[in-house]
Amino acid sequence: MSGEPQSDCLFCKIVAGEIPATVVRQNERTVAFRDISPQAPTHVLVIPRAHYPNAAALAAAEPALAAELLVEAGEVAADEKIDGAGYRLIFNTGAGAGQTVFHAHVHVLGGTPMREGLV
Ligand code: AMP
Ligand code: ZN
Repeated sequence: MSGEPQSDCLFCKIVAGEIPATVVRQNERTVAFRDISPQAPTHVLVIPRAHYPNAAALAAAEPALAAELLVEAGEVAADEKIDGAGYRLIFNTGAGAGQTVFHAHVHVLGGTPMREGLV
């Protein structure tokens, strides 16, 4: 079955509690924690506990879990009080797009005016 923990995966280690993280929300299927190198006043990563290499693989295998990631991202934004002003969700997919951790995650970024544009 897919989604199994990978021994060489940083975020699987955070899920397992083997590496510390500042967790801001969690439930049986997802964990949200602060990015170690924040790029905005609020920078939280939301991940599934199950291991998938990227968001597309997650969505293909477990669409309900992919949707839950978005629900949790919205809850993080509300908790952080950035939902009113607006925030950005980013799924880097592939090394060429800047993905460095190959466990699906969405970046929740906000708390400062963000420039327009996508790249
Ligand atoms: P990406 O570049 O989209 O793969 O995002 C990976 C993110 O994980 C980067 O923004 C890193 O700063 C962040 N990161 C790496 N190690 C840790 C860690 N131990 N705890 C929290 N965030 C981390
Ligand atoms: Zn993993």
